[in-house]
Amino acid sequence: MHGMVGEMTRRVHSIEIDSEKCIGCVACSVVCPTEAIRVRSGLARVSHDLCIDCGGCIAACRYDAVRARMSSTSDLARFKHTVAIPSMTLYGQFGSNVDPSQVLDGLIQIGFDSTYDISWMYEMLGRATDAYLSECGGPWPKITASCPAIVRLVQIRYPDLIPHLVPLESARELAAKLHRRRLAKELGLAPDEIGFFFISPCTAIMNSIVSPVGMDRSYVDGALSISEVYGPLLKAIMSRDGKDLDAPVSARGMQWSVAGGQIGEMRNENTIAISGATDILRVFDRIESGKFQSVDLIEAHICPGGCVSGQLRIENRHAAERSIQRIVRRRDRHDRVKEERVRSLLHEHFFDLEEQIAARPVQALGGDLRTAIAMKRKRQEVLEGFPGKDCAACGAPTCEALARDVVKGEADPEDCVFVRIDRLEGGASTAGEGEDE
Ligand code: SF4
Ligand code: SF4
Repeated sequence: MHGMVGEMTRRVHSIEIDSEKCIGCVACSVVCPTEAIRVRSGLARVSHDLCIDCGGCIAACRYDAVRARMSSTSDLARFKHTVAIPSMTLYGQFGSNVDPSQVLDGLIQIGFDSTYDISWMYEMLGRATDAYLSECGGPWPKITASCPAIVRLVQIRYPDLIPHLVPLESARELAAKLHRRRLAKELGLAPDEIGFFFISPCTAIMNSIVSPVGMDRSYVDGALSISEVYGPLLKAIMSRDGKDLDAPVSARGMQWSVAGGQIGEMRNENTIAISGATDILRVFDRIESGKFQSVDLIEAHICPGGCVSGQLRIENRHAAERSIQRIVRRRDRHDRVKEERVRSLLHEHFFDLEEQIAARPVQALGGDLRTAIAMKRKRQEVLEGFPGKDCAACGAPTCEALARDVVKGEADPEDCVFVRIDRLEGGASTAGEGEDE
């Protein structure tokens, strides 16, 4: 038995709106890549069928009204032994003079019993991806599945692209699975007495733990945001001289936190990196219509620039990226993993997801085909009555989204301010005509 228990397993999403703080400004609604947010009666509401936990709404809200639902340090008390798994982004939060060894040491000082660096696991996965690409036979291009928000996006909005996802498990799940067994034996504990916590730059990873894809239950027990541990961790790092510390962190693996870092370390050069929701949607639309077939791999991140710009980080994205590049340059970049060994692990299914990635049902217009066609026609009629300005003043991100809501009975055409003005002006002129008579 492994993974999260109790309340954590029932939680499906890792963002929530604070109704006390939300002023209904619609900034979150217009950035949401899946049009999951509507503002009604001055309050943002999230459709949990559509949300992919990308955290874009957290970054967009200037009123601090979108909260990340992450684990907290009090969750550590549920376990007899706790292990911190830092994201590679954490290593870039303290400037280039702080070495990853100091960060790992600091995590122990702030209360974890041990740490587990997964940079080497990223390095292995890079080689495994090379081996997979050389053997899989398409369909092309393949798309990396290391960003959980990308996997959700494909499930919800691009189900035809599921066969394009590289079906290899994430570094943190592989590490927690392997290390849990080893540590339980070493410490004489039951596997579920050990708690594995990822130190995360984003909400998408928390969601991949509470609601995993490709496995029944996560091997990781929770995720603490970088912003929560940052203060105590910085204090701990600064309080000690890190001269004697020398953790064997993989420079190749560290690069995974920056867009282009994974493909930059691969043998296959027929690859591209895409990041940021807008570019991702454009490229995925094109892949759906048969483009990009000459490319072998697309490294995809929902956050612009990769994990270094996750919304729960502290350091500026560009500064963090520079720190990581400098740390990488200082470190030895020799291959830590043997290609033949990785290839045989691939054949032994060591990297495989435990379950296939399935399409996730979304709210479709109509049940059977006849109803769906009728409702699509109705949506087109409603849409023609809107100005097409996509102003979002109605609380839906686009006129098309409002038309869809109207057809589903969730909104009224007069939620559109222009339709309302037209009616009032029409009413006023009719009233005026009456007065003249
Ligand atoms: S961005 Fe969204 S959550 Fe924040 S205040 Fe505006 S409507 Fe509310
Ligand atoms: S987390 Fe992303 S998908 Fe979910 S509501 Fe916010 S912007 Fe939309």
